Amino acid sequence: MDSARRKQVLDALGIESWSPRTRHAPTQLLQVAVPTQAATVTVEAAPAPNQNAAMLHKFPDPSAPAFEVPTDWEGLRPAVAGCMRCKLCKTRTNTVFGVGQQSAPLMVVGEGPGADEDAQGEPFVGRAGKLLDEMLKSIGRSRKAEVSDQAVFIANVVKCRPPGNRDPEADEVEACRPYLDQQIRLVRPRLILALGRIAAQRLLGTEAPLSKLRGPLYEYGSEKTPLLITYHPAYLLRSPGEKAKSWADLKRVHQFLAA
Ligand code: SF4
Repeated sequence: MDSARRKQVLDALGIESWSPRTRHAPTQLLQVAVPTQAATVTVEAAPAPNQNAAMLHKFPDPSAPAFEVPTDWEGLRPAVAGCMRCKLCKTRTNTVFGVGQQSAPLMVVGEGPGADEDAQGEPFVGRAGKLLDEMLKSIGRSRKAEVSDQAVFIANVVKCRPPGNRDPEADEVEACRPYLDQQIRLVRPRLILALGRIAAQRLLGTEAPLSKLRGPLYEYGSEKTPLLITYHPAYLLRSPGEKAKSWADLKRVHQFLAA
């Protein structure tokens, strides 16, 4: 990006100063509040903060054009479908964008697609997905609902399946975060419900265990969206004894949204 264009972007973002970084300096992705009047906002692609030199040159490619985050649904969906910002693009079958009503009061955020989701391009469609649907139904909500007070939007912190169902890595989550953040800006949920340890840790930027994270009401992002944490349905399938705690969390979600 030339200096005039960079200044134009920084002015638009309300950033006053700029220090050029060296090509190999570890950096974080720039998270910004997106001006609503702009069709797109331009964010310079950042090098991955890891030690893998070969991967550093590929994901993201420092010579690649500046990354544009579309600010509307019509632009965001194809941007995700064609995304090659991290190495998960090499092994996915389908990107998994998200599902549900686009102005739902509740947004559920999971970890990442599994094999069934990768094959079908929709989040939470396997056994864990069926359980999630039951959990949502217990508080009167459905991914298919069109009425706002029954609606939910479901997404993941990464839109492509990590191979072998491993946890998504930090650089993959950071590469994908602009898409999730833009989904949150577009949905404008009253509450985010993070499912499981990985989603909670990645959203909150902590390595604390789920047992410590579950309970408080957090705020996420520049919009300070309220966020609660509960168990991932896949964990509940393995540990059905925790369903009572999960139900307590769901009642809290219901009460929050009903207030
Ligand atoms: S996980 Fe996200 S950042 Fe990585 S390739 Fe898929 S859509 Fe792009």
